[in-house]
Amino acid sequence: MLAGHLWDGTGAPPQPDMALRIAGKRIEWCGPAGALGSNAGSQVIGLRGLWVLPGMIDAHMHFWGLTPGEVTPADFQTRLRAAQQQARDLLHAGFTTVRDLGSPIAPYLRDASAEGALETPRILAAHVGLTGARGPWLIPQPSWWEARVIRGSESARKEVRRLHDEGVDVVKIGASTGPRAEGFGDIPTLTVDEIRAVCDAAHGLGLPVAAHAIGSEAVRRCVLGGVDTIEHGYGLSNEVCELVAASDAWIVPTLRTRAVRPTPESQATSRKQMDTLRRGVAAGIRYAAGTDSVGDVFTQHGSGNALEFELMGRLMEPAAALAAGTRDAARMLGLASETGTLEAGKFADLIGVRGDPRRDLSNLQRVEFVMHSGHVVRHDAGGTGR
Ligand SMILES: [Zn+2]
Repeated sequence: MLAGHLWDGTGAPPQPDMALRIAGKRIEWCGPAGALGSNAGSQVIGLRGLWVLPGMIDAHMHFWGLTPGEVTPADFQTRLRAAQQQARDLLHAGFTTVRDLGSPIAPYLRDASAEGALETPRILAAHVGLTGARGPWLIPQPSWWEARVIRGSESARKEVRRLHDEGVDVVKIGASTGPRAEGFGDIPTLTVDEIRAVCDAAHGLGLPVAAHAIGSEAVRRCVLGGVDTIEHGYGLSNEVCELVAASDAWIVPTLRTRAVRPTPESQATSRKQMDTLRRGVAAGIRYAAGTDSVGDVFTQHGSGNALEFELMGRLMEPAAALAAGTRDAARMLGLASETGTLEAGKFADLIGVRGDPRRDLSNLQRVEFVMHSGHVVRHDAGGTGR
């Protein structure tokens, strides 16, 4: 494969006139185009006009199988069909890995995809959320996913084992109220002991823990309890920003979902998110990109998920924003040896865009080539793919 420019995502600057050799699902070699040589029987994919980058990662999204404007959940089969299309749309938009943090559908998509029956990104699935008795997701409402209540450490350990047996890839907990209760997002719903019990049980079973946590006290408890990733994580004091920065925890700031909603509440939350991100970046917090898109009218799955890069890029260097949704997201998800950068030995997960993304991160919303695990998913100029 010949690349006009290759930005391998390792932190090295982009290089012109580069080439990649793909063997099966993986990258075999990467170097200057002049050194590619010819290999009888191998096909050369010409991407000379494009910038080639690692496939993007959305580390927080939901396959709810929503259709725009829907107010109550449709039957499971209808939702499954809608989610299949959304998964395909995400892959064609350049997302080669996603982490679904709550949906009954994601495990089905993940398993069907692993069997080769569906065209989807690589999927990590949380399935059901765990939360305290007054936690988020429990407000009576038509719900597109399920939450279970934990009361005390023993119940926390029991529910984690149950999720493990059900085959989740990550344990999702709700450590604060919101987001439906706008303005009440900073009420913690789990004790440090409960969070620690979840984390100890999950880690003992080889599972990471992702916590919905908004506000200083909830995030402080998550850090003390040993949570791996903090979801949303806004409204933080400078002191808590320092605490997170000194810990092993990551924050997934989920900017898209608020930025695109025109209501005054969402716009106010969006400003709060950006303010916390600015202070968190200065404090040295590790961030990964995740949109919290659910497939509704404002957050349809597809090219719009890449808006997250542009939003992060308002407060980060373009290279850092790109890394947040590629190398760093892979690191956070425990997939650093498999994807996230373009290096020999890793899965050939890569995209091509026409313009320099350093100048304009919105170029990531206009992907023209996608390869997932060595398979050409999309090649606008080449006409190949399925
Ligand atoms: Zn979410």
